[in-house]
Amino acid sequence: MKYDYLVVGAGLYGAVFAHEAKKKGKSCFVIDKRDHIAGNIYCEEIEGINVHKYGAHIFHTSDKKIWEYINQFAEFNNYINSPIAVYKDELYNLPFNMNTFSKMWNIRTPQEAKAKIAEQVAETGITEPKNLEEQGLSLIGKDVFEKLVKGYTEKQWGRDCKDLPAFIIKRLPVRFTYDNNYFNDRFQGIPMGGYTKIVEKMLDGADVKTNTDYFEFVKENPDVAEKTVFTGMIDEYFDYKLGALEYRSVRFETEVLDTDNYQGNAVVNYTEREVPYTRIIEHKHFEFGKQEKTVISREYSSEWSVGMEPYYPVNNEQNNALFEKYREMAAKEENVIFGGRLGNYKYYDMDKVIGAALEMCEKELD
Ligand SMILES: Cc1cc2nc3c(=O)[nH]c(=O)nc-3n(C[C@H](O)[C@H](O)[C@H](O)COP(=O)(O)OP(=O)(O)OC[C@H]3O[C@@H](n4cnc5c(N)ncnc54)[C@H](O)[C@@H]3O)c2cc1C
Repeated sequence: MKYDYLVVGAGLYGAVFAHEAKKKGKSCFVIDKRDHIAGNIYCEEIEGINVHKYGAHIFHTSDKKIWEYINQFAEFNNYINSPIAVYKDELYNLPFNMNTFSKMWNIRTPQEAKAKIAEQVAETGITEPKNLEEQGLSLIGKDVFEKLVKGYTEKQWGRDCKDLPAFIIKRLPVRFTYDNNYFNDRFQGIPMGGYTKIVEKMLDGADVKTNTDYFEFVKENPDVAEKTVFTGMIDEYFDYKLGALEYRSVRFETEVLDTDNYQGNAVVNYTEREVPYTRIIEHKHFEFGKQEKTVISREYSSEWSVGMEPYYPVNNEQNNALFEKYREMAAKEENVIFGGRLGNYKYYDMDKVIGAALEMCEKELD
């Protein structure tokens, strides 16, 4: 055997593992079926702008150790995510906060906002929400739900809020201060120079091969390494023997525009259902870019089928039960460790992926 580990997937999980393994004197061969490293945090440079090719990525965490860990690989800027919502010709700040309420109801104080929400919640008369629409109305009342939640959620899921289960929205974050910072975390920012450079540094010292699909590769190289760290789809690993786990997908339409500033903010959500996309991302604003041109991406939420890019796991009862069965099969697989968002069929923010990878490293490498 040539290597200690074959790492399948050059995304954040695989890269953290390869980095830690190298520190412990282990050798890694990292493969990825895409033509680039960095998985979903890959940034493609267009017109001097780091374009988040697989969707906008903002690093945020409350875990000081993870923050210090990622800061070894890049310097972070002081970007704070403060999205704007567009509903017809009205503009609102997100997350729901006093700026949102003051614009919506022409009020000023937290007491007025609380009273308005309580009044609208009471008007719904809903005590046991039977679907997402009733759940949303009973949490936030008619105005905020109909203008800022309903259409956006329907586009995300491709169906009516009345046909979606209530549990999807457990709570709606509401803030009674004039604070547009989307995240509550202590640390937040964008790596200066983009995310790909972080992964490049993590993979320094490992042998890396892109354009290489595991299933083809392993047929010809069954003995390339002692152990495999697999960060691809767990159901695909088992050839979908028990059926396919479901995902929602996203389609991005990216455009270069001959203007230096298109929308004045990195993230603008379109909350009415009639607008077909969910968001427009203007990438330069993540890094306070001063380039002459700009690059925008419209995001369209879409159904997923086998062969398409999987983005968001649909963690309903049926899929979770199926995943449990795959997990049992995975536990019996000798010398293979499953990890990352696809290996664990779980939506993970980047800080959580790093945390999970480091935890696995502790068990595996110490
Ligand atoms: C639209 C979107 C927006 C997000 N925004 C944020 C955000 O703002 N902040 C945040 O913290 N997190 C965000 N995330 C989450 C973030 O993307 C993940 O935490 C992170 O990318 C997961 O890393 P990973 O290594 O597990 O998976 P991936 O990055 O997907 O890496 C897995 C890699 O495995 C490769 N692979 C799969 N199968 C095979 C195979 N058979 N052979 C070879 N290679 C294979 C894939 O090509 C891929 O490169 C977002 C996610 C999405 C979908």
